[in-house]
Amino acid sequence: MYQDRALRAAAAAPARLYVDGRWRDTERTFAVEDPGTGTVLAEVADASVQDALAALSAAASAQESWAATSPRERADLLRSLFDAIHQWVDEFADLITAEMGKPVAESRGEVAYAAEFLRWFSEQAAHRHGSYGPAPRGGSRIVTTRRPVGPSLLITPWNFPLAMVTRKLGAAMAAGCTSVLKPAPQTPLTSLLLAEVAERIGLPAGVFNVVPTTRAAEVSAALMGDPRLRKVSFTGSTPVGRTLLRQSGEHVLRSSLELGGNGPFLVFDDADLDAAVEGAMAAKFRNGGQSCVAANRFLVHRDVIDDFTDRLVERVRKLSVGHGFDGASTLGPLIDSRQCAKVAGLVEAAVSEGAVAVTGETAPRGEDGYFHPPTVLADVAPDAAILRQEIFGPVAPVTAFDTDEQALRLANSTEHGLAAYLYTRDLHRAVDLGERLEAGMVGINRGMVSEPAAPFGGIKESGLGREGGAEGIEEYLETTYLAVDLAAAGAGR
Ligand code: NAP
Repeated sequence: MYQDRALRAAAAAPARLYVDGRWRDTERTFAVEDPGTGTVLAEVADASVQDALAALSAAASAQESWAATSPRERADLLRSLFDAIHQWVDEFADLITAEMGKPVAESRGEVAYAAEFLRWFSEQAAHRHGSYGPAPRGGSRIVTTRRPVGPSLLITPWNFPLAMVTRKLGAAMAAGCTSVLKPAPQTPLTSLLLAEVAERIGLPAGVFNVVPTTRAAEVSAALMGDPRLRKVSFTGSTPVGRTLLRQSGEHVLRSSLELGGNGPFLVFDDADLDAAVEGAMAAKFRNGGQSCVAANRFLVHRDVIDDFTDRLVERVRKLSVGHGFDGASTLGPLIDSRQCAKVAGLVEAAVSEGAVAVTGETAPRGEDGYFHPPTVLADVAPDAAILRQEIFGPVAPVTAFDTDEQALRLANSTEHGLAAYLYTRDLHRAVDLGERLEAGMVGINRGMVSEPAAPFGGIKESGLGREGGAEGIEEYLETTYLAVDLAAAGAGR
């Protein structure tokens, strides 16, 4: 039953490359699976290096005319794309569930969130200003103006197949940049459906090109080695981000990197525990824990740790594990068998180090997908291995702390710095620790930080640059300074 719906959803999306406003077949294809059943949903065109370079040629040819469109025109197109996504919400939501696995209610949430980036950037497009002023010693004027960086390579992961794309595409379009998107091979169909919708609303050929491929390293190295490319924007793991940063040196590309996290979630002894548990469920179990801003480590004051853990376990036991289309499940499968094995291995290692595992529903109710039971790990030692890496699954390790300074030290003891969360009723503590937590985003008495109008991004090895907010469009703009000599033009001041 779920299989039919997943197959229908996949069939609604094109399975070919989208280059220069045309759909292209390729010699090779690759299979896209439903992680909830393990069945193949579609065979998708597999771009070669030549295909990707053709996409870059299209982006490079369209760059000048796209940059010359008025900001208002680009704003209107972004707004049309926002409206169109809302008209296609059922198709997008079903497709996201089919190829990525999250419960369809969550997929609908992702579609709304993803579309919101387009509305946000449509509002930003017409608000790019330069500056004008006298040079301090007089006689000339300093004029600054903004221009698009140029053709951009967008590389996205599978965990939010639509939102990770619109967060980049919206900013690129608003700034006047053309782009080549390389989506994750697990979830290419959502990007291709987006290209179809963009084509229908009249986005000019070459402005947005989509090249799914199984040869990510080869394709991106060729694109980044081509001087026509001027920017790379990547969302994914820190190791791949490091490689891309090294490669971006060759042609000194503008680089935006949204990388992995190891989010601490701090609960103080004065916290509203109901709110903290509610926030913990959102920060940990949304998207099955497969989120870069997921809470990865629960650090809880010793006086409230038993109460917090009991309440968390009670909520975790109520999670319903199953296929995203079953109408009841609140926790879907993980993306693939490799991720499933990795999460199971982390839990096993933590238990062998002394943690106590309490699991919720295990059986995927007759499905063969890549399910892992939601798990709370109690009594995790502060130096346990599981606290040092991104779990990317529905597992919540809980560790005790005694003082604010100890909590802060534990929270900051990671090379990552993406999201952090803290629960307290003490305003001084919230602001003081909020500012001292080494993270690009801090949720204060909130388990969700993502918001298109806010700057999303990390510090330390969690990345460079910001997406969304007023900062998002800046990543796609350059500043040009015009030194205007007034004396030569006949004016003395
Ligand atoms: P990943 O392995 O780094 O892959 C991300 C994307 O990069 C995929 O499209 C992948 O394609 C591609 N890729 C891999 N190697 C490449 C290379 N050498 N050159 C160019 N592209 C390459 O990450 P993932 O496992 O899919 O995603 C999970 C990670 O993303 C987590 O660490 C998570 O925290 C992070 N993430 C971060 C954010 C954020 O905003 N900070 C948001 C979401 C996810 P292939 O799969 O074909 O290799």
